[in-house]
Amino acid sequence: MKVLIGLKQLIGVLLLFIVLTTSAQNDGFSTFSEDSIVKKSQSANSSEFDEFSESEEFSGDNEFNSDEFESDEFSGGDAEFSEFSEGDVTLEKPPVSYNRAYWALAILLYTILAGIFVRFNFTRKLRPLFLLATLVILGFYRGGPGIISSLQNTYLYIIGFNDKWQTIILFLGLLPITYFFGKVFCGWACYLGAIQEFLYIGKVKILQTEKAQKVMRIIRIVIFAILIIQLTVAKMILWNKIGPFKVAINLFSPNITGYILLAVLLISSLFIHRPFCKMVCPAGLVFGWISKIPGASILGIDNTKCTGCKTCSTSCKINAITRDNKVSKLDNQECIMCGDCMSSCNVKTIKTRRNGKKHKEKIVLKGIKNLNIK
Ligand code: SF4
Ligand code: SF4
Ligand code: SF4
Repeated sequence: MKVLIGLKQLIGVLLLFIVLTTSAQNDGFSTFSEDSIVKKSQSANSSEFDEFSESEEFSGDNEFNSDEFESDEFSGGDAEFSEFSEGDVTLEKPPVSYNRAYWALAILLYTILAGIFVRFNFTRKLRPLFLLATLVILGFYRGGPGIISSLQNTYLYIIGFNDKWQTIILFLGLLPITYFFGKVFCGWACYLGAIQEFLYIGKVKILQTEKAQKVMRIIRIVIFAILIIQLTVAKMILWNKIGPFKVAINLFSPNITGYILLAVLLISSLFIHRPFCKMVCPAGLVFGWISKIPGASILGIDNTKCTGCKTCSTSCKINAITRDNKVSKLDNQECIMCGDCMSSCNVKTIKTRRNGKKHKEKIVLKGIKNLNIK
């Protein structure tokens, strides 16, 4: 029965995915062609423009709404833009739009709301709706702004190769929000996480030990280092060319790598809960580091109440609560503040707390008699 429910969920998401992708492509492209580009040369005829619009860079890509044009794809990418100044059609950059900044601010407010909702039993149940809304609106319909692009834009901004402040608001704004609310953006408001979570059918249990968690974090750190080197050297966001989520949203990739990565993402997401979050995402890695800062919001337990039943570790699909032989450990660097463990704990001892002397970023659940807090 559970398998059937999982399959129904999967088919539903795929259908929604196709319908919304089609409508978003139509809508996104018409917006792009009408508003984003100023066609200066009167000599350019319609066939020339058609040729342009069907090129690899622009095929049905809802990233190219007018407000997006100056952002992700072109960050640090003046060279890319100059490609379009050549030939018969002369184009110029549209004026800087504030729309992207408004969307980033809306996502930040949405995340703060989620950070409040996760603290209460009743509102915690709304998390699937939050994820669905972000997937539909930011993912399928709008195609951004995305957190990984924002992180990379922020780095390019710091090293002087991006002057578009609108592209960095999302990442920078999430840093203090993560400090005050934990990685609630990951658990409630990230459409990249939502895609993976809705695909997960939860039958196979792999990569769940603490050792696996460590290895996956090392992989993420290595990928993060490679990303920083790539950005420093190339000064452009390669992610936008091959990122599997962009391909998933648009059903289009300018190269075969995008399709291969999409296939890897979709298949792995069926069997591993949020594989991209666990093994790749640089933003999730950075947000996890924030839990180490004194005073940061973390999950903690009341050591006078815990019975050591380990129900919480069973309920944690992200495997932030990993089982060792005798104890379970809750690692706040991995925790996405989904709230499932809080809901599952019969004695309601897991709550949000502040990182400090009493509660550290990693806690050990041993049971009432011999429970320690590291
Ligand atoms: S880890 Fe990255 S992809 Fe996953 S939910 Fe967080 S920000 Fe999104
Ligand atoms: S925190 Fe709650 S669910 Fe987890 S082991 Fe302790 S009593 Fe059980
Ligand atoms: S420890 Fe796991 S179940 Fe609990 S809030 Fe964090 S991710 Fe969710």
